[in-house]
This record gives sequence, C-alpha cells and structure tokens, in this order.
Amino acid sequence: MSDAGSLQALVQALRRLPGVGVKSAQRMAYHLLQHDRPGAQVLAQALQQACEHLGHCERCHTFSEQALCAICRDGERDATRLCVVETPADQAAMERTGAFSGLYFVLMGRLSPLDGVGPADIGMQQLLQRAADGVVQEVILATSFTAEGEATAHALSQALRRAGVRVTRLARGVPVGSELEYVDLGTIAHALADRR
Ligand SMILES: [Zn+2]
Repeated sequence: MSDAGSLQALVQALRRLPGVGVKSAQRMAYHLLQHDRPGAQVLAQALQQACEHLGHCERCHTFSEQALCAICRDGERDATRLCVVETPADQAAMERTGAFSGLYFVLMGRLSPLDGVGPADIGMQQLLQRAADGVVQEVILATSFTAEGEATAHALSQALRRAGVRVTRLARGVPVGSELEYVDLGTIAHALADRR
C-alpha cells in the first residue's frame, strides 16, 4: 500500500454514503484529518456503537436497541390504529406532530421494482399479519406522495383490503412529490385528520 493508502480507504468508505461522490468524499476526509481529528474519533465510535447495538423492533421494524422499540412498549398508545410509514425519519416527523397516538409499521423502504425492492423487502407479509391481529381496526397509509410512495400505498391498500382490514390514506394537502419527513408538521397533522 502507498503512503496514502489509509486516506484512499477513508475516501472510498465515505463514498458509500448516499449522494456522496469522489470530490465530496475527499473534502470530508481532508476536513476530518486536517481540522477535526476528535470529530473523526467521535464519528468512528458512533458508527461502531450503532452497528453493534441497533437492530430492528420485532413489531414495527424501526431501529431499536431492544427487541421492542419505546413506542411499541408504550401501553398508553392506541393499539387499534396502525400508521404505515416508509422510514424512521418519517415516523419521527409523524411523532413530532403530536397528532397521532397509535402504533406504527415502518417499511424501511418503499416498493421500487426498478431497484429490485419488492413486497418482501418492505415486510408486506409481516404487515398483513400485524394488521390481522384482531386489535388493529384501522391501517393509515402514510407513505410519501411520490410516484413510488403512491404505488406502495396502492399495493398495500389492495392487499390489506383483501384481508378485510380497514385502510385509510393521508389526505391530499401534502404536496405531490413530497417525502413525509420534509413536510411541515401542521400539514401532516391536517392530512392525518382528513384521512379517508
Ligand atoms: Zn416498534
């Protein structure tokens, strides 16, 4: 390996991040090594810690350090309502509205046939089982208002309805093309109240 072998390795590792090309990766690597070595250590430890301790909640699939996440463990939540979101970030956005007191199912993605993401990758079967537990009375589809989010909502609603589950979708009002996590909280709360 050359003198700069570990620098190359760092740049290559940073390039794994979404949206990061060679130039950005180099900038990040130089910044950390030249100006913020302590920050680089913090980053390395946080990554290691997260990889070792974070798994997925058995019930809702969101990231969790325990078998059940804090929301699923919370006996005060309304277990008759199940809100389906794409990501933990979307779930966090929904939580911040304070307008939803039910439980979640986090798809950890959305259907995207071109990228090879099918029903099994978003846990459709587990969602169907979860929704048919006899406690859930309504499944609220809160996937993004993007083409893939809409297609995902459509596929899920068909499967859930076939299984006899009541399904609602967040109302329009959320701008078309939006990822839920970037929508302002008032709009999400309205879309939730006006679901149909
Ligand atoms: Zn959970």
